[in-house]
Amino acid sequence: MRVLVTNDDGIHSPGLLALVHAVSAVAETFVVAPEQERSATGHAITLHKPLRVVRTSIPDVAAEAWATNGTPADCVALGILDLLDRRPDVVISGINMGANLGRDITYSGTVSGAMEGAIFGIPSIAISLAGWKDTHYDVAASFAVRLATLIVERGLPRDTLLNVNVPNVPREALAGVAITRQGRRRYLSRLEKRVDPRGRTYYWLTGEPGAPGEEEGMDSAAVARGFISVTPIQMEMTDEALIRDLAGWNLGV
Ligand code: MN
Repeated sequence: MRVLVTNDDGIHSPGLLALVHAVSAVAETFVVAPEQERSATGHAITLHKPLRVVRTSIPDVAAEAWATNGTPADCVALGILDLLDRRPDVVISGINMGANLGRDITYSGTVSGAMEGAIFGIPSIAISLAGWKDTHYDVAASFAVRLATLIVERGLPRDTLLNVNVPNVPREALAGVAITRQGRRRYLSRLEKRVDPRGRTYYWLTGEPGAPGEEEGMDSAAVARGFISVTPIQMEMTDEALIRDLAGWNLGV
């Protein structure tokens, strides 16, 4: 098995290191990751400036690694189009520090790294740990390895990826694995308006996650109950029902 690992927290993040440790024990492992944090960059790609790549190493693991000034989507493209000598069997993006649930998916660099893999036709996984403090990355890392192995055996449909969120608890406290749908969790946005030392106003986007109308079977409900959530995500975003409805609007120029 050949695995391409990327993330959006940067190549030095503990989540990526835990993932690479676990993956490289069972697979030929390649890491192409941002040199610094690129969280919440969504599916941005770099077109207006050069992409730079520096070969690096991950301590104590046999993995080939490159740090780039690009986004997670750039990293996956760089890996597939040039840095790796052959296509990987699986792309894994993560392990992100913090969950990517519900509407987070739209903003997430982690999920977009996996989405870029899927665009290239490679089965891809985004994996996130639902916590920031006292992190249990080892649980998520071994689950990622298990899932990657299954994906190589069974394949995934085209243009589809798996979005995985792992509760931040010790292995023995996990309730199990739940196959879920994307929920509605979103950050209830707030603007903090401040004044800098030179007297100019600046803003800081912030907010707390809320889950309006979260239902059984949705991703964040499962994680809240201690389950690893696995959500199949597809890139086809067309609203089929609205196609029929719009056709009846008698739109003319
Ligand atoms: Mn991140």
